[in-house]
Amino acid sequence: MSSIFAKIIAREIPADIVYEDELVLAFRDIAPQAPVHILIIPKREIPTANEVRPADETALGRLVLVAAKIAASEGIAEDGYRLIINCNEHGGQEVFHLHMHLLGGRSLGPMLAK
Ligand code: 5GP
Repeated sequence: MSSIFAKIIAREIPADIVYEDELVLAFRDIAPQAPVHILIIPKREIPTANEVRPADETALGRLVLVAAKIAASEGIAEDGYRLIINCNEHGGQEVFHLHMHLLGGRSLGPMLAK
């Protein structure tokens, strides 16, 4: 079943899109956890990191390239930022279309909640 992110790709629901190419789409998170909180997703519907295939290598590499470009355009590259991909329950994944969070704009503290 398609997730909400498939609907964003198809422009069936609105999103604040900051980047798009043939493989990936990036848009601002609806509930930002930091001054900059952008989601970067492959256009192919991959539910979780567990379903990644070798054929996805280019799209997933693109996620990091695009994250770095967006970090620069958002003015957070030098201070730094965090890239996160959550997987399944223990990872805290809520939307089952693989996505990378780009978070920054303030010091993000320790990597994991205690
Ligand atoms: P996850 O917990 O799956 O790694 O992260 C899902 C993220 O998607 C959350 O940060 C949540 O705020 C965001 N999100 C959920 N629904 C929507 C939506 O409809 N639009 C946007 N822009 N973000 C969403």
